[in-house]
Amino acid sequence: MKEISARNFEHEVLEGGKIVLDFYSSECPPCEALAPKFEALSDLFGNDIKFLKIFRQENRTLAEKFGVSSSPTVLFFEDGKEVGFRLSGGIKRAELFEGLKILVGKDTINEVKSSIEPTTTHCDVAILGGGPGGLTAGLYLCQAKIDAIIIDIGLPGGHVSTTHQISNYPGFIDPQPGYLLSHNMSEQTKRCGTTYKVAVDVTHVDLESKEILIDEYETIKAKKIIIATGTSPNLLNVPGEAELKGNGISYCATCDAKYFIDREVVVIGGGNSAIEEADFISKFARKITIVHQFDKLQANKQAQEKAFANPKINFIFEHEPRSFKKHESKLITEIEELKSGKRKEIISDGVFIFIGMKPNLEVLSEGLELDNWGYIKADEDMRTNIKDVFAIGDVTSKKYRQITTAIADGTIAAIAITRELDK
Ligand SMILES: Cc1cc2nc3c(=O)[nH]c(=O)nc-3n(C[C@H](O)[C@H](O)[C@H](O)COP(=O)(O)OP(=O)(O)OC[C@H]3O[C@@H](n4cnc5c(N)ncnc54)[C@H](O)[C@@H]3O)c2cc1C
Repeated sequence: MKEISARNFEHEVLEGGKIVLDFYSSECPPCEALAPKFEALSDLFGNDIKFLKIFRQENRTLAEKFGVSSSPTVLFFEDGKEVGFRLSGGIKRAELFEGLKILVGKDTINEVKSSIEPTTTHCDVAILGGGPGGLTAGLYLCQAKIDAIIIDIGLPGGHVSTTHQISNYPGFIDPQPGYLLSHNMSEQTKRCGTTYKVAVDVTHVDLESKEILIDEYETIKAKKIIIATGTSPNLLNVPGEAELKGNGISYCATCDAKYFIDREVVVIGGGNSAIEEADFISKFARKITIVHQFDKLQANKQAQEKAFANPKINFIFEHEPRSFKKHESKLITEIEELKSGKRKEIISDGVFIFIGMKPNLEVLSEGLELDNWGYIKADEDMRTNIKDVFAIGDVTSKKYRQITTAIADGTIAAIAITRELDK
């Protein structure tokens, strides 16, 4: 792997060959997450592909010329021309392989993959998930001199990193941008010395043997595991939803309703959370239109009565959203009447979607005792039914899911584990 600059860019990149170029920056957590993967792949591909790095802050003009506006951004070149796609943000090893496939073909990729020697890393505690819960557990364990590794399929921070503003986290007088709060939590834990394995694929988890396979070749073997994988909102999976998430579409009224004072919003859903949250949003918004797929609400009677008595709340039954678009500051929700198939648009200032959350347990629920909704049951020390497996934060069975409750769980699990390991 070689560092280049704008001065030798033409010679190194444009004069031919197969090249992967990483525009990186300093003080950039996703760049730090990419660096070891990039280096390891550079060793694996030897002379077939040149792996180059360029420091974006010192080569700004070149970066701008190539339209590179975030770090890291990885570009692929062949014979002087950019090919394939670009990668940015929390880049996974599997995504790099996909890009490299365009340069050398599937057979070479398979050959290289089969030559990779599997590795095993040992630690005291493996923490699955680097949201507020996992980061807090990592911090406490690190300060107790316990060797912990935080493993996350994305970048550290969890839901907080994508939340616009947090105004209910103690210790700050003014609301904090979510990305900043999560960045500070992550840096605090990292600076203590906790190892991070982030933007990785968690391929397999064996809770009994405490083995976690990441990126297909590295096994993390721990004495204890903390599951802190949080939840994901159920998505409608209609056009525009993913693009407008955080930019007009929200999944959390506690967090975002206050930004809709005297505005009009659409709420999707008809269960308890949709109806209760619509009531909460009505403290701020001028008008709420609930769009529900059935001819009746599914929420409990008391919540329904309250909603029907609320003059700000209107209902559209037997309709489903089909797409979302933004026009200037307005959000356009296209809905379809299920009986007739007729479509119409609702114009509002924002949309809240409450069609349920799901615990992130895809690769690791085997053997775990779950509640009726699929969340992990944990005792007061955050122990699960499996020996030496703990669960914390939103992924656990509990009534209230907030940052403060997740960090409380992380604290409790870390102290309980410290006492056990110190015996
Ligand atoms: C839009 C929104 C706004 C919110 N606003 C507020 C607010 O203002 N105040 C407040 O107190 N709370 C708020 N919350 C709730 C709060 O964010 C959560 O309660 C809190 O983040 C839970 O922390 P956690 O660590 O349990 O999980 P999460 O924050 O969900 O973090 C889980 C982490 O695990 C990772 N992960 C998932 N699957 C795997 C896997 N298989 N292997 C490894 N890692 C995995 C994820 O990438 C993620 O980083 C909000 C939630 C949402 C959705």
